[in-house]
Amino acid sequence: MGSIDVEARIIPTNKYLEFYKRSLEDGEKFWSEVASELVWFRTWDKVLEWDPPFAKWFVGGRLNASYNTVDRHVKGWRKNKAAIIWEGEPGDRRVLTYADLYREVNKFASVLLKLGVKTGDRVAIYMPMVPELPIAMLAAARIGATFTVVFSGFSSSALADRIRDSEAKVLITADGGYRRGRVIQLKEIADEALKNCPSIEHVVVYRRVGREIPMKEGRDHWWHELMKDAERYVEPVSLESTHPLYILYTSGTTGKPKGVVHSTGGYLVYVYATQRWVFDVRDDDVYWCTADIGWVTGHSYIVFGPLTNGVTSVMYEGAPDYPAPDRWWEIVERYGVTILYTTPTAIRALMKFGEEYPRRHDLSTLRLLGTVGEPINPAAWHWYYNVIGGGRCPIVDTWWQTETGGILISPAPNIGLVPLKPGSATFPLPGIEADVVDEQGKPAKLGEKGYLVIKRPWPGMLMTLYKDPERYKQVYWSRFPGIYYPGDYAMRDKDGYFWLLGRADEVLKVAGHRLGTIEIEDALISHPAVAEAAVAGRPDPVKGEAIIAFVTLKQGHKPSEELTKELREHVRRVIGPIATPEEIHFVSMLPKTRSGKIMRRVIKAVATGAEIGDVTTLEDEASVEEVKEAIKTLTRKQQ
Ligand code: ATP
Ligand code: MG
Repeated sequence: MGSIDVEARIIPTNKYLEFYKRSLEDGEKFWSEVASELVWFRTWDKVLEWDPPFAKWFVGGRLNASYNTVDRHVKGWRKNKAAIIWEGEPGDRRVLTYADLYREVNKFASVLLKLGVKTGDRVAIYMPMVPELPIAMLAAARIGATFTVVFSGFSSSALADRIRDSEAKVLITADGGYRRGRVIQLKEIADEALKNCPSIEHVVVYRRVGREIPMKEGRDHWWHELMKDAERYVEPVSLESTHPLYILYTSGTTGKPKGVVHSTGGYLVYVYATQRWVFDVRDDDVYWCTADIGWVTGHSYIVFGPLTNGVTSVMYEGAPDYPAPDRWWEIVERYGVTILYTTPTAIRALMKFGEEYPRRHDLSTLRLLGTVGEPINPAAWHWYYNVIGGGRCPIVDTWWQTETGGILISPAPNIGLVPLKPGSATFPLPGIEADVVDEQGKPAKLGEKGYLVIKRPWPGMLMTLYKDPERYKQVYWSRFPGIYYPGDYAMRDKDGYFWLLGRADEVLKVAGHRLGTIEIEDALISHPAVAEAAVAGRPDPVKGEAIIAFVTLKQGHKPSEELTKELREHVRRVIGPIATPEEIHFVSMLPKTRSGKIMRRVIKAVATGAEIGDVTTLEDEASVEEVKEAIKTLTRKQQ
């Protein structure tokens, strides 16, 4: 066997610049060339119909997402190539080839048809991380039903809200799923939700765990029973490019989740292209995105990106630290993972356990690392780079949102890797015209902070918010008319690199200066005692806003008055006196969404005594209590 080339291709930076420039010169021609790499049943008449703020991509074109992810590969040599290498939390394993996936998707599409699902109907999916989850998504796509996946960690009320909003006709769930050795009782939670969801006609239950669960006669059906009588082939429906592929509700970090609607053609073209540009996937890669499919990262970079590209992916059901903190590293070694894509939160959590866990495993197959979800603080970046990547693997810090469908700002090793700067997502991808602007919408100077904006439509962008086009206009297109406003605070440095500085509505105004939450948090995390940090502002009559910080400490460190002083001193040194936190609270955990992002608005609400608002996406309510308690204790001390 010949040797496998595992190094990411490092091509001089000007390659990227050239390619990028070309992509913007004739945007429509550029996207049209990319789109023609997919299989279309009918070619589009028009690349883009832009009726601001509504974009239609590849108008008149017809295609099917399941055809482009499975049929296409079984017609060629990838037929028996592994599509999904799956590992359950208890240690069970399965490998599904593209042919297996094709067979299952067809059969399940036939099941959906027999249950009365039609093109245009909605199907809700509430499943653990098992291969049947992507199978259900692709089967729905095959018959033109719009699916909505609800993360399996959500409560019954969060599930009910999403089913009601999307008016789904069928719910697909399971008898359970494993998480940290426990069984999540999905079916019981679903039953609770369904008490209040009149649109649901049928429930399909996949047997994952094999335990006794309540089944409602006439409404509930076992997946395996229905599959027995399924047809082996279902013709993929030829759908308009603008046919809604799915609805996905955002993480809810800043408020009530929004029902983001993605198209079939534009979305598929965009994730197909970005999967290749950013992750540089090749046929001998073993790619692993650790996200849950319940989030957009899983939709785009576990399901549609990898499968349109014919990639072999690892999929893992459970927790990263179960049964021990080296579970992920064991998986990397077992399957020889070459590309790993995860979140800064996960990196920080695994970092807390120390280097000994990754050191137990051979991670030498890795050639490319990625992050998403939040800015990565330089301390975590270096750990990821050195300890996990062995100083060999570039890190792609990918900035994007549920709304953008795919990655917009990131290094792109497949096009030409630019020199990396830890903590910067570097430059926009081809076709993406990004900028940082001031309050008035004028381009900010290099080195000046402002708001990130995207100045022209791109194929992966959301079509609208489900049943709420007004909110769509107001949230994304009213701040700066005619341009897309993601709601993130940012800066371009003297070399033009993009730095994401936190949410725009969480920016602090201290003594006439604007500070992104991330700037202060990074300064705190760069202290050796600190594991995680979250800051928020409290109105202050003198300064405008006083900075309140919450920190969790690394193993072996304890809260003390000295440490508080030291941390305040440390922030002064790193950023300057204006950034000095007024209060520092030590807590054992921070309030986070189930996708692992810090909910600063909750902290701010507690600190200012305001209403806490929607917390359906909060991971652990005890964290809020802890924050409240910490603030109370300090107030008592000061009195
Ligand atoms: P909601 O919109 O409901 O408040 P959310 O914004 O957390 O939820 P997502 O769409 O999952 O939901 O997250 C997108 C956001 O995550 C971005 O707007 C940005 O704030 C942050 N983000 C994602 N990737 C990065 C990154 N690489 N660097 C910095 N920030 C990132
Ligand atoms: Mg958002």
